[in-house]
Amino acid sequence: MNLNYSLTEIANWMDAKVIGDSNKVVKQVSFDSRSPLVNKFTLFFALKGTKSHGIDYVADFLKSGGELIVVENEIKELKATQLVVSNTLVALQVLAIHHRKKFNIPVIGITGSNGKTTVKEWLFHTLKFDFNIVRSPKSYNSQIGVPMSVLEMTDEHTLAIFEAGISEVGEMKKLAAIIQPTIGVYTGIGDAHQTGFKSLKEKEAEKRMLFEKVEVLFSPESVENADKIEIPFILQAAILNAQLVKITAQYLGLNTTQIDRALLTLPTISMRMEKMEGVNGNILINDAYTFDERGLEIGLKTLLLNTQNRSRVLVLAPDLQYEVQKSLNEIIKASDLDTLVWIHPQAYPFPSKFKCIHIKSVEDFIQRQLTFKDSIILFSGSRSQQLERSIPLYQLRKHITRLEIDLSAIRHNLTEYRKKLAKKSMILAMVKAQSYGSGSVEMGKFLSAEKIDALGVAYADEGVLLRKAGITLPILVMNPEEGAFDNMIDYHLEPSIYSLNILDQFLNRLILKNIKNYPIHLKIDTGMHRLGFVNEDFNELIATLNAQPEVYVKGVLSHLATADDASEIAFTNQQIATFQEATKTIEKGIGYSFIKHIANSAAAINNPNAQFDMVRVGIGLFGLMDNVHAEFEQSLSFKTQISQIKIIKIGDSVGYGRRFRADKKTTIAVIPVGYADGLFRGLSNGKWQVKIGDQFAPIVGSICMDMCMVDVTNVICNEGDEVMIFGWDQSIYEMANALQTIPYEIISSISSRVHRVYVD
Ligand SMILES: *Cc1c(COP(=O)(O)O)cnc(C)c1O
Repeated sequence: MNLNYSLTEIANWMDAKVIGDSNKVVKQVSFDSRSPLVNKFTLFFALKGTKSHGIDYVADFLKSGGELIVVENEIKELKATQLVVSNTLVALQVLAIHHRKKFNIPVIGITGSNGKTTVKEWLFHTLKFDFNIVRSPKSYNSQIGVPMSVLEMTDEHTLAIFEAGISEVGEMKKLAAIIQPTIGVYTGIGDAHQTGFKSLKEKEAEKRMLFEKVEVLFSPESVENADKIEIPFILQAAILNAQLVKITAQYLGLNTTQIDRALLTLPTISMRMEKMEGVNGNILINDAYTFDERGLEIGLKTLLLNTQNRSRVLVLAPDLQYEVQKSLNEIIKASDLDTLVWIHPQAYPFPSKFKCIHIKSVEDFIQRQLTFKDSIILFSGSRSQQLERSIPLYQLRKHITRLEIDLSAIRHNLTEYRKKLAKKSMILAMVKAQSYGSGSVEMGKFLSAEKIDALGVAYADEGVLLRKAGITLPILVMNPEEGAFDNMIDYHLEPSIYSLNILDQFLNRLILKNIKNYPIHLKIDTGMHRLGFVNEDFNELIATLNAQPEVYVKGVLSHLATADDASEIAFTNQQIATFQEATKTIEKGIGYSFIKHIANSAAAINNPNAQFDMVRVGIGLFGLMDNVHAEFEQSLSFKTQISQIKIIKIGDSVGYGRRFRADKKTTIAVIPVGYADGLFRGLSNGKWQVKIGDQFAPIVGSICMDMCMVDVTNVICNEGDEVMIFGWDQSIYEMANALQTIPYEIISSISSRVHRVYVD
């Protein structure tokens, strides 16, 4: 960041009261005291987060050499200049708005449900030789990320590309004022599926507010009749994104040949850093796909946050053309490294306190295989250097075929739910069926640590496992079976009682054990017509409850049949109304109140009137509720490695039944995943493609029980390379579509022999 504003000027814009010496200059802003770049010109905004408050970091900030802070309440006796404002986030945004107004260059604003970051990075890839571009780093597209990105604009830039993401009504207006785009790019609202038209429309209208003042807008409609293009990807979404890139580049004056050439080499966009376990107790952070100073700053921040007692190592392989700036040294210096591995033909030009190992090329780095121990190693490099090729040398290879569960994504999704629950409803996480395939004990422990209010399982055995693992949260059992009652009572699991018959049996057991006041939930059938009490049962139910001191009603629940389908909103509302009636009747009948809960993942988001006292979320925690709510992150990836590669001749066939026959010389890779692992046989012979590096390889022939074969004729790969079957950029929705099923079935079918690996 390279600002140059007087503090008084900034205070004026923000309508701030200045306390302390106002004769200061601001060169950059920060909202994170752990940011490596803090000095006396840094203006620190104490923002309120969901979990933390910037105020708590003021001391850190001052210790790192900062002197200027923006706060909402004056802090007494502080040796710093304070700007007191009524809202620190608004103040940051106001500063960005003023900064933006100084520039008269084309500014591309991108929004839409999917592919914002991809389109942004692809535009950069296509336009970088013709413009000096400033763009949002990674997927910085929020109420904080957007102003931070806009503040990066300087006089030297000739084009800006910013993305905007929203999660609530009203947010886009603010982002539009900050970005002030002149060119709009809309990536669309995604595949609507069964999700609702009305709310979808609303969402779309909100998103389109970014474009109110643009001179031109490119959207999926603009490319409906576009010519075919050639890109290294085959997914429909990728083609659409590339077409948007193409017309935008044309509008900016690039010629078709130039653009088409750039499209042929579009990179895969890795939006986040991968963290993994290395050999020798190392932790590796892979950020080897793009390189710029802002990105490096973010990478180093991740390194600092994860250091614990490890030595800090940065492996840096910038582009050969990269001209080393002093600012690079400042960023690196601030992160207190132990070792820098500098991969570049020229030596690192600055004197430094840390150990500096100079290696001339990534090839040499791979040849030399340096040894690190108990270190945290950040691999950062420009795409052209392909530094990621060196990572397998340092990676701990425990599991070949594995389901990776990204705990930080689940944490993020949980936070999204907490934000969206209007009332302070409690959250019960459904962890039935091995927690949707992700492992019930590990998930139970993780969710306990994240302070979830309760857990839900299908069968008592699943609850017993959780208890044996030391989990003390309330646990609701949806299908209490008579044979498991003793276990349920001994392990204090709460049954969902759904019939007079089950209630009787359960009471008998409690009477035998001489137990009083045992918590139960009553399940009402409000239209799903699965388990549950119906109206006709209520009189007898209430009479029984009133006569028996063995139980008390802790909760009353029901389940919605169409919460994920807005066209059935009337039915959902009918179910909710029936539920309300039923709870009223029961409340009146038994004379006390209880926890009411009916919403699943979809209803918790889509139907505020379904939230009641508690919601029960399952699929939403994995970011797989629908592909409209882009604010949720997909948290499961199914991965393996190539076992063998072979070349076959024209006419040769592959696999059982010879269902694939080569019509040219073909390279085949064998991967150790079959239908017994949960890779459905219906995906055979081209119905699905796996991803190797950033390229796609279609499945050829029939999927076997333990293995399958993929066509890698056009993929650069080696035995042992990682293969992604599905994951955050290989959508489970598309796999579900190909199989005419839903993500639930796919993830709960990953068999138990597939290792579960938890990453955070
Ligand atoms: C599985 C289940 C849920 C969670 O459903 P999602 O669609 O995964 O959120 C909620 N309630 C009951 C009764 C369930 O069986």
